[in-house]
Amino acid sequence: RAAKAKELRGQAGGTKDGHLVPLLANLGKPADGKTAIEYGAEGVGLFRSEFLFIGNAEPPSVEEQTKAYTELLAQFPGKKVVIRMLDAGADKPLPFLTPEDEPNPALGLRGLRTLRVHKEVLEGQLKALAAADAQTDADLWVMAPMVADEHEAAYFVKLGKSFGLKKVGVMAEVPSIALMADKVAEVADFVSIGTNDLTQYTMAADRILGSVSNYQTAWHPAVLRAIKLIADAGNAHGMPVGVCGEAAADPDLAVVLTGLGVNSLSMTPVALDDVRAQLAEVTFEEAKAKAKAALNGDFYKPAWGD
Ligand code: PEP
Ligand code: MG
Repeated sequence: RAAKAKELRGQAGGTKDGHLVPLLANLGKPADGKTAIEYGAEGVGLFRSEFLFIGNAEPPSVEEQTKAYTELLAQFPGKKVVIRMLDAGADKPLPFLTPEDEPNPALGLRGLRTLRVHKEVLEGQLKALAAADAQTDADLWVMAPMVADEHEAAYFVKLGKSFGLKKVGVMAEVPSIALMADKVAEVADFVSIGTNDLTQYTMAADRILGSVSNYQTAWHPAVLRAIKLIADAGNAHGMPVGVCGEAAADPDLAVVLTGLGVNSLSMTPVALDDVRAQLAEVTFEEAKAKAKAALNGDFYKPAWGD
C-alpha cells in the first residue's frame, strides 16, 4: 500500500471522479522545502514563520527575514505558498513579545493580538514578505493567525495590501470567526482553518494539557460543524477555504473535509502519500455522504467513553 501510494506522487490531489483538492505542505523552515517537493506537495499551505524569532533575544531584522522568505519562495516558482505571520503566545511564547504573567495564555495575547501590540514586528514582517515576493515567482499568500472576527480580518487584509501583498487572508482558529464566516468572506481573500486551535477553542480544552487530550479531536461533530460554516461561506462567496491543522493529515478526516467543501488540504509532508491515495479511492458524492454522517457524530468516540 505504501509503495502504491508513493506511485501517485506527482499526481494532483483529488477524488477519483476528478474533484480537485490541492495537497500542500506544512513547513517550519525554508530548508524543509526539499521534503515538500520530494513528497509531491503541490505547494505550501502553511509556512510557520516562528523559526526566525524563537531562541533570539529580539526580533530578526527585515533583511534577515527577507532572505529567509526568499529562500523559501524561490523553491516554488509558479506554486502557491502560504506564509503565516508570526504566531507568538500561548503554546509558542516568545520572551520579548509574550507577557509572562498571563493566567490562561491560550486565551491571552497571541497571534494577531500580539502583532497589533507590537506593530513594529507586524510591519517589519509584512515589509520583508513584500520584498521577498518581489524577488521571486511563487504565488505568495499571506495570512494572520488567531483572528477573532471580520473586523480583525479587514484590519489585516487592508494592512497587508498597503504593503503590496496580493493575496491576504486569515486563519480560522477560534469559534467566533467560524460563526462570523459569512462576514469574513466579504473581506478576506482566503481562509485557512487551523484545526489544532479550532478544536482547542471549540472544546475549551488546552491543546498542550495531557489531562484533557481526549477532547483534542477534530472528529467531534462540533468542530466539523464549525468547519462547515466556514466552508459554506467560502463556497458561497467564491473564497478559497483550506485546512492546515493536523486533521488534514488523517486520511479519513481528509475525505470528510473534502466532503464538507474544503478546497485544499495542507499537512506535514510525510502524510501526503496516504491522504492522496485515500482521496483517490472515493467519489466526491461519497465524500459528501461521509461528511454528512460525520456531522451527525457517527464517527465520534466520546471523550470519556459511552
Ligand atoms: C492550527 O492551529 O491548527 C495550526 C495549523 O497552527 P498551529 O498548530 O501552529 O497553532
Ligand atoms: Mg494555530
